[in-house]
Amino acid sequence: MPGKIIYNGKSLLDNKTPIIAVAVNGNKSAPNSKTGDMLQTYILTKDIDPRLANKTGQDFGICGNCPHRGIPSTDPKRATAENRGCYVRIDQGPLIVYKSFHKGKYPIATDQEIIEIGSNRPVRLGTYGDPAAVPRNVWDLLISKSTGHTGYSHQSKIKDSYSDICMHSVEDKKEAIAAWKDGKRTFRIIQSVDEIIKGKEVLCPASKEAGRKSVCELCKLCSGSEIKKRSVAIVQH
Ligand code: SF4
Repeated sequence: MPGKIIYNGKSLLDNKTPIIAVAVNGNKSAPNSKTGDMLQTYILTKDIDPRLANKTGQDFGICGNCPHRGIPSTDPKRATAENRGCYVRIDQGPLIVYKSFHKGKYPIATDQEIIEIGSNRPVRLGTYGDPAAVPRNVWDLLISKSTGHTGYSHQSKIKDSYSDICMHSVEDKKEAIAAWKDGKRTFRIIQSVDEIIKGKEVLCPASKEAGRKSVCELCKLCSGSEIKKRSVAIVQH
């Protein structure tokens, strides 16, 4: 996957873990069926294989306190943490990007190049990893000339989660209501369409229950509180 390094430094989630953020072009000929064709951004531990980082809990620097990281494991048969609930397969995009980075395939982007990489296209902030791990100015440059973006953060408990440009991922209705009081827009996984809170949430149009009538590339509803729209919920599968 051709791409460029847009950040190489310490994680803002713990102020110590060396991390990288790499912007890569999605697969145009076979785009992700839910997101469509978007610029993808991978936030990875710089020196630890992402599978091992997750298995050992050393992924705090890229995922913070997201509950979907799972429970650290020492089981030699396991590749990742126990009960990991994250929908991103680490052995696919994240591992490919990590290996390519260590083969020296990605040049470092200048600020001007970061602007150009994101221009005239939709951008996905944190295809893997939490956008809040990366300095805000990187995202501001990347989306400054984009045609829109999506992003999700679980990090409001430990730092600024960039809620103006990212959805606040919540685990339940109580968390959602608290976030709405703070002016945030939320993204929530529900078990059935009946759980949608009318007037506050809409069903993700890319979901099966909504008839898969859009994709993130076109919808761009998940772009934080800077747009005045309802929050988003999606039924778990
Ligand atoms: S609501 Fe729109 S932007 Fe958000 S996940 Fe669904 S399709 Fe993507």
